[in-house]
Amino acid sequence: MINEPYGQHWKGHKGFRAIEGSDVYNHRFGGQEWNVPKCQLCGEDLHQILCFDLKDDRLSELKTSKLEELPLLSCLNCSTLWEPQLFQLHPTTKNVTILIQNDKQKWVQDEEYKTPVPLPYTEFKLINTVEEDIPVNEGAYYDTFDLFGQEYICRVLGAPLYVEKPNDISCSTCNQDMKYVSSVTHDFEVDLVSVVNLFLGEMIIYFYFCKECLTVKTEVQGT
Ligand SMILES: [Zn+2]
Ligand SMILES: [Zn+2]
Repeated sequence: MINEPYGQHWKGHKGFRAIEGSDVYNHRFGGQEWNVPKCQLCGEDLHQILCFDLKDDRLSELKTSKLEELPLLSCLNCSTLWEPQLFQLHPTTKNVTILIQNDKQKWVQDEEYKTPVPLPYTEFKLINTVEEDIPVNEGAYYDTFDLFGQEYICRVLGAPLYVEKPNDISCSTCNQDMKYVSSVTHDFEVDLVSVVNLFLGEMIIYFYFCKECLTVKTEVQGT
């Protein structure tokens, strides 16, 4: 677990849980409104995992005039996810292109366990984090990690809950620091999204966004 000055790191970072349900914004899980490319390893379309409606003022730090909604993508069926990936968003055509996929393991999920492509669509909404979502001391980190993936699938903004400090979150295109957007995980034996059986096991997927270049990066950590 990461060691850090707890109070300081989390101060002033308002974060949210994203959960299934609807509100006035068009946040969503699954679907495929963006033209996603095919995964370089398994050849299937990338999953549009989440898409956040940037009209929501709670996401104002992600806002840019160039983009109305922010899709978060990855293939969930092969080992490309295990290495950092970089995607380019083209909002006028809703196309997405792969800038970096750097698979080293060549592992593809067995057919019978594959996550459907595209993911079934369902509405999502943001709610405020609860007290236990923000670790106030080292012991509290374990409780916070326990809830994540057991009780809810997705954290949005706020301070990222890292297993370890990430290597490098600078944008490979413009070199600016990318903005942490969201992280996703899903344990065994829970059903956090009604439309699909999802299992991300010990992995947390972190999504970053560069407002300048409209690139989205994924990085995975194991818990
Ligand atoms: Zn794949
Ligand atoms: Zn950039």
